[in-house]
Amino acid sequence: MSTVFESIRVLLGGAPKRIAKKDLPEEVRELHAHKFADKERIEKIHIELAEKHANPPPERLRRRRWLVLIAVNLLFVLSYHLDIQLLEGALTASRFAGFHMADLNSALQVMLAFKHVVINLVIGTTTVFILWWLLGGRTFCSWVCPYHLVAEWAEMLHLKLVDKGWAKDIQFDRRSRTWLWLVFVILAIVTGYTVYESISPTGILSRALIYGPGVALIWVAMLLLFEIFFSRRAWCRYACPIGLTYGIVGATSPFTVHYKLPNCFHEGECRKVCLVPHVLDTVLKGKAKALEVDIGADCTRCLRCVDACPTGALTFKYKGLSS
Ligand code: SF4
Ligand code: SF4
Repeated sequence: MSTVFESIRVLLGGAPKRIAKKDLPEEVRELHAHKFADKERIEKIHIELAEKHANPPPERLRRRRWLVLIAVNLLFVLSYHLDIQLLEGALTASRFAGFHMADLNSALQVMLAFKHVVINLVIGTTTVFILWWLLGGRTFCSWVCPYHLVAEWAEMLHLKLVDKGWAKDIQFDRRSRTWLWLVFVILAIVTGYTVYESISPTGILSRALIYGPGVALIWVAMLLLFEIFFSRRAWCRYACPIGLTYGIVGATSPFTVHYKLPNCFHEGECRKVCLVPHVLDTVLKGKAKALEVDIGADCTRCLRCVDACPTGALTFKYKGLSS
């Protein structure tokens, strides 16, 4: 259980805990002592990496994820425009084949604002909670949230501009997201209005796709410009309360990204592509607390690290189905 608490502490903005070398399990110390003796293998990894950097291969898992994300959002759009009634509403609140579904954060905001428990929301919230617990919590972010997709494209541009020295990557305190989560909860209670919904880029984009564009898109464009020129993935890293809510849901999820220390040679390719690199602290040399580690709750299960890792040290697993 302590691993879950540690994972939630980091999700809320705490720094990953360091462990003294002397406190590492014997087998981990042994492995570190002998791992770098295999010079031939390390040389081979470096050659492969140099080739990969010269001719980057397609990120197959990323492409599949984008397809899923587009398909889910398209389903909402088509259902509305063709009046199919399989899926009604938007990402914040919907009905799928008659089942009420509600985004957990929006449902919480609505209940706090109206100060009573709306029964349809309880049904929708429970359905969505179970679904996202089974699927990994923040999986919502990278596989469904429309803002994630446009922010990923903005991030590609941001990285190019940073390389040329035309953009900065300002880092903020990650605890800001927890504070904002609390601020929006208090605002909902005090004002009786779901304040967060009016500025949520997830909701704004979802509604714009389904019902047509509105002025709120200017806010989304401003966020993207800020991320492109000043801070990589700032909204999802430091601000979005939805990401935090789903992170808590996924803290005990059976679907995780899994790290195998014996396969890792600490090249750091995974951390370069990760939206939340603090969850990959364990891959730094000497930081893993065990031979195998599940990556923490803030991981969005985007699987980019799995694609990026040259040695297969990161994989995904479904506890109980795979080892
Ligand atoms: S953190 Fe928020 S905006 Fe970012 S992907 Fe997750 S839900 Fe979407
Ligand atoms: S740890 Fe891997 S799967 Fe999780 S968010 Fe980072 S890159 Fe994506």
